[in-house]
Amino acid sequence: MKCPYCRVDNDRVTDTRAAEDGYSIRRRRQCNACGRRYTTYERPAEFDLKVVKKDGVREPFLPEKIRSGLQRACWKRPVSDEQIMVLVNEIEQEVFSSHDTEIDSQDLGEIVMAFLSRLDQVAYVRFASVYRQFKDVRDFVDVLHRASNP
Ligand SMILES: [Zn+2]
Repeated sequence: MKCPYCRVDNDRVTDTRAAEDGYSIRRRRQCNACGRRYTTYERPAEFDLKVVKKDGVREPFLPEKIRSGLQRACWKRPVSDEQIMVLVNEIEQEVFSSHDTEIDSQDLGEIVMAFLSRLDQVAYVRFASVYRQFKDVRDFVDVLHRASNP
């Protein structure tokens, strides 16, 4: 797969094991181009989760959206990309272990905030203030994007 850091498609798997929940496979990978390490999870597609937005619209649960939201909240904070990826994986595990088919976007936001508050208080406050105002993951990503790119 393509490296999430440098986008080069040249990696190797350094470790493969069952994830804690027993329903997915966790692989540690290392990019042969830039040398950075990252983790991927492999699980049955039947577990695909839907996020229920306030207006009732259902969207696929996309960890990538969480990651970009967290990256913006952590902008100029002493938080590495690796820490963010680990956090996204932890959030994913929490979401999948507590929800079978659907999760309210509100609940998802609360889970993200709970994890983020342990990592960085400033990023948490940023995330929380914007999130609580807009109630939707995509909305706060948009707003944070505009705020950091005037
Ligand atoms: Zn790389």
